[in-house]
Amino acid sequence: MRVASRNGRLSLVIDGRIVDVERSSGGRYSSDPQRVWDDWDGFMAWASGADHGAGEAFDLTELDAPVPRPRQVFAIGINYAEHAAEAGYPPDSLPVTFTKFPSSLTGPVAHVQLSSATVDWEVELVVVIGAQCDFVKRDAAWTHVAGAMVGQDLSDRTVQAVGAKPQYSLAKSFRGYSPTGPWVTTTDELSSRDDLAIQCSLSGEVMQSSRTSSLIYDIPELIERLSAICTLFPGDLIFTGTPAGVGNARSPKRFIGSDDVLVSTIEGLGELTTTFLAPVVD
Ligand code: ZN
Repeated sequence: MRVASRNGRLSLVIDGRIVDVERSSGGRYSSDPQRVWDDWDGFMAWASGADHGAGEAFDLTELDAPVPRPRQVFAIGINYAEHAAEAGYPPDSLPVTFTKFPSSLTGPVAHVQLSSATVDWEVELVVVIGAQCDFVKRDAAWTHVAGAMVGQDLSDRTVQAVGAKPQYSLAKSFRGYSPTGPWVTTTDELSSRDDLAIQCSLSGEVMQSSRTSSLIYDIPELIERLSAICTLFPGDLIFTGTPAGVGNARSPKRFIGSDDVLVSTIEGLGELTTTFLAPVVD
């Protein structure tokens, strides 16, 4: 299944066309794309068995963040060895965990206002939790995952480094700094759970290109470690970290300008297109 939000309504993308879930289910399921996480297993059972008809044509610009109001958004830093190296950390660094506040979420085709002249890109695989996790061991972790999607962890490097300690959560939570989508691809439809091509390009120039098999802490490991401390709820998101190639680590440094177009892609999951508005100067 591919689960999307079209103009704020829960939808399924089937063979390149889109189905409105409230209408297709005769009102059994709410149009609110967040409510589906209250009964994810029941929804999947219905969605995989029902006849959804031919669906409608649609445009990616009609889609919103697939999970609009997750209870928690976890984000992992320093989780690809080459990125750890470019950022100046030893390869055995324990990945840092922070949050991207949910108000920063936006959809797959978004216009984002830059907060400064030092905003950076970080393409990331985003895991969507499907079942409550408490002390889940890695062998059982995938049964608690609903699916995955593409994410961008947009980051204001000045805000991140302004104090004595890094301000990851705030620097990465400006309005629109968490593009996600274009839809949640459920785990049964992933071509691979642990080896997908991941890439982003800025105005046509490839900036990051890697594979998710290069994660230092893979998805089961992250779920085991996070659920040992926090309860994870259905619909929670985990941004799993970014590969090498961020602008802050380049020589000279490179950041996003207001005329740039950022395209973020993961094999089999789709693509995000993010455009930018100039920062407000006062
Ligand atoms: Zn990141």
